[in-house]
Parts: sequence; C-alpha cells; structure tokens
Amino acid sequence: MSHSSKSPWLIHYDASSCNGCDIEVLACLTPMYDVERFGIINTGNPKHADIFLVTGSVNDQNIKVVQQIYEQMREPKVVIACGVCACSGGIFKECYNTLGGVDMAIPVDVYAPGCAVRPEAIIDAVVKGLGILEQKRAALDAAKSKKKEA
Ligand code: SF4
Repeated sequence: MSHSSKSPWLIHYDASSCNGCDIEVLACLTPMYDVERFGIINTGNPKHADIFLVTGSVNDQNIKVVQQIYEQMREPKVVIACGVCACSGGIFKECYNTLGGVDMAIPVDVYAPGCAVRPEAIIDAVVKGLGILEQKRAALDAAKSKKKEA
C-alpha cells in the first residue's frame, strides 16, 4: 500500500461471535495497537463505512443483517472476515444452527484466521484491505471516466 486517498472508515459487526474476537478487535483501537495510526475511524453507520469487519459465523438469524449492512455501504467497499468462525464457521462449522463463514452471505475480500484472531492479524488484514480498497477505487474511477468519454 503506497498511500490512501482518504481516511478509511470501518464498521464492525458481531455476527455470532463468542466475543473472543470482538475483544481483539477492541484491542486494535487501544494505544498499544493503535489501528487509528492508519487514519482508520470506527463508525456505526454503514453508509459512512469503507471496510466491513465481521466476527463470528453466519446463521439464519443474522444473515439478513450482514447482507443489509453490506448493501447499505457505498462502493468501493471491502469485507474482512475476522477469526475462523467468520472465515469458515470455525468450531461451529456444520452445527445445526450455523450456515458457515461470512462468505455464505456476502463476498469476502480478506480472511484473518485465528481463534481468537490476534490483533496483529486484524491489523495485517486491514492493511491488506486498504490496498484492495484503493484498487477497487481506481477501477471504479476508470469505469466512470470511460462512461463519460462514451
Ligand atoms: S474464532 Fe474463536 S474466539 Fe473468535 S468468535 Fe470464533 S470461537 Fe470465538
């Protein structure tokens, strides 16, 4: 990642986490890990968010919520699955009340494994996500200028 054209805003949703991964996400915001040094701002509003960070697996109860948050986010956007539950269903995979990882509901750009996922892995995933966000933004800008020329 060379640079980011704007401060990326991030929304976090706890799908069905045991809260282990959520605590690690919160740890990223503490001065020890200081994810805000990348200019990242935590928001509760999907319309303001560029990055959707999900912890926990998807089930019948929350799949619509995950999809609605994703749909409310403007393009370009990036999804990060945080922890093995979000990546694949984890230890709950194939349980009667679990559908699987976040990619059962929406497209996932970055997978951050771990149980619980380590703050370093979350920060690494966010930095990867920022690179993908810039690529998507450039592709969107190119498509817009092509449309204008036509
Ligand atoms: S990956 Fe582990 S710590 Fe994270 S939500 Fe699943 S069970 Fe909990």
